[in-house]
Amino acid sequence: MFVRYLKQTQELFGNELYLNKMTNSPPKNKNAKTELEKFCQDISDCQKCELGAARNKFVFGTGDPFANLMLVGEAPGAEEDRLGEPFVGRAGKLLDKILIAIDRSRAKDVYICNVLKCRPPNNRDPLSSEVEQCEPYLLKQIDIMRPKLIVALGRVAGKTLLKIEQPLKEMRSKLHDYFGTPLIITYHPAALLRNPGLKPAAWEDFKWIKSILDN
Ligand code: URA
Repeated sequence: MFVRYLKQTQELFGNELYLNKMTNSPPKNKNAKTELEKFCQDISDCQKCELGAARNKFVFGTGDPFANLMLVGEAPGAEEDRLGEPFVGRAGKLLDKILIAIDRSRAKDVYICNVLKCRPPNNRDPLSSEVEQCEPYLLKQIDIMRPKLIVALGRVAGKTLLKIEQPLKEMRSKLHDYFGTPLIITYHPAALLRNPGLKPAAWEDFKWIKSILDN
C-alpha cells in the first residue's frame, strides 16, 4: 500500500517526493533492540552453508535498531570478517561520509547489514544457494525493525534482493518493492572509490533518499 502510494507520487512529482506523514510506514517496534540482539545470538553460529565453516566472524549488522533507513550491502569483505561489523574498510569510511552529508550516521537513524552474513572466499559474488539460506535472516531483521526505506548498495545487492538481472543504471532512480518495504538501489561505495565520476549521480540518489526520510 505504502509502496504503491510512493510509486504514484514518484510518477507525479519525480524523485522529489512529498509524503504525507499520516500515510507513512508502519509504527516502529519498541522492542527492536532486544529482539535484534536475541536474533543475533540465535543465528550467529549458523552453519547452513559452507561460508559458515570458513568465517572468522559472523557479520549480523550494526547501527540504530530503530532506524528508518536500512542499508544493505552484498556480503562482508576481509575487514568485516575480521571485525564482525559491516562496511568497516575503505568503502565503509566513504559510506560514513555520505551518511554525514545526509545528516545521519551509524548511530543515528541508520542500520547497516548485508545480504550474506559471512564472507564469500576471495570476495566472489554470493551463490544463489547461499542467498537462499541467508536471505530469511535479512527478512527477519526487516520484520523486527520495520524500516521506512531500504537502500541496496550496488548491483549485486540489488539484483540479489529483487531477483532481477539488469545493469545498475537501469535499477537506479526507481522505487522498488521488497516484500512491502520501499527499496532504492544505488552505487556501492567501493564503485565510487574506483570511479569517482559516479559520485554526482550517487549524490542525487542520496538527496532523494534524504527527502523520503525527512518527510
Ligand atoms: N561490501 C559490502 O557489500 N558489505 C560490506 O560489509 C563491506 C563491503
